[in-house]
Amino acid sequence: MNQIYLDYAATTPVDPRVLDAMMPHFSVSFGNPSSVHRYGQQAEAAIESARETVASSLNCRADEIVFTSCGSESDNLALRGAALAMREKTGAYRIVTSKAEHHAVSKTAEQLERYFGFEVKWLDLDEFGMVQPQNVERALDDKTALVSVMYANNEIGTINPIGEIAEVCHRHGVLFHSDAVQAAAYLPVDVQSLGVDLLSIGGHKFYGPKGVGVLFVRKGTPLIPSQTGGGQENNLRAGTQNVPYIVGLAEALRLTVEEREQRIAHVKPLRDQIIGAVLETIPDSRLTGRMESRLPNHASFAFKDVDGNLLLTLLDAASFACSSGSACKTGNPEPSEVMDAIGLSREWGLGSLRITLGKDSSSNDIKEFLKTLPSLVEKARELAKDKRG
Ligand SMILES: *Cc1c(COP(=O)(O)O)cnc(C)c1O
Repeated sequence: MNQIYLDYAATTPVDPRVLDAMMPHFSVSFGNPSSVHRYGQQAEAAIESARETVASSLNCRADEIVFTSCGSESDNLALRGAALAMREKTGAYRIVTSKAEHHAVSKTAEQLERYFGFEVKWLDLDEFGMVQPQNVERALDDKTALVSVMYANNEIGTINPIGEIAEVCHRHGVLFHSDAVQAAAYLPVDVQSLGVDLLSIGGHKFYGPKGVGVLFVRKGTPLIPSQTGGGQENNLRAGTQNVPYIVGLAEALRLTVEEREQRIAHVKPLRDQIIGAVLETIPDSRLTGRMESRLPNHASFAFKDVDGNLLLTLLDAASFACSSGSACKTGNPEPSEVMDAIGLSREWGLGSLRITLGKDSSSNDIKEFLKTLPSLVEKARELAKDKRG
């Protein structure tokens, strides 16, 4: 495939070193970690060693790490588990979250409201997609069980002031969860300096496998399991652990922390080149999110009077794999919630484009991309005009 991949926020390829670490656990070392015999002991040793590795990357204790099946499951466990436990403990029934969360958080919050009797307060964002700590503070009262605000936004790359939000929450005795699934690839995930009670990450956003995640649960945080059954994962997540994937996630996270500076140094100049060139060469274009407080591998734009999905198709045909915020709903595209939340009108919000870089992005790829994009945006505009008549 002679395609250029510019969608690392959607997923990343598994690092060959990670794959090497995983392989023996599919075959030679295949035991069930809960078994008493040596096969079991060997598998248990593998996940406990992975747990130590993850704990040291997050700067927490090993018994504060819960392995899950993905970032989405970690978000589900955090929200549902903490909401139910806090209501039982204190009677609190409010959940405070932002209008820019990943669906793994927002749909879980909606479900808790609709079927479980909780009440959700949705925090506004500023025009750059940031959640302001003083807005969080205003939303809190003595019936608030939990606040959930993402560390970095997957669609527009904005980084939230997690440390300050955590401080606000703790001053009011409210639990704080952060979805760090997108952030973990580039930002420090030291849970002590972040001050979070609960933090979600997922393996496939930082060169680990898909289908495995972590929830950090600070010691003493009340949590009711979403998935019941055996006593695995400290009684918080039933089910025989996926040993090879857990080993892979741990190795991928270790490498990410170790190589963070080099990875940032590689992607950031390329990102800046994209942002500068797009805003300069494409009329009626704007950056979504902002230049500061932005993931270093993330460029996102809105183009006026462009159908984002059409633009993606044109880009794909020209061999570039990118992403857009608008989900195509049976021929009637809608701007994403995030575009609404940052105040973009429909004519801008439909034309969103996200370019996210990674280890294999080269300056030659970016040169080719920047050479091609302006004419494709132009073409998408012409086609939209024809359609409107
Ligand atoms: C990808 C992503 C998720 C979901 O993670 P999965 O492992 O794919 O379930 C959740 N939140 C954010 C911010 C993400 O980018």
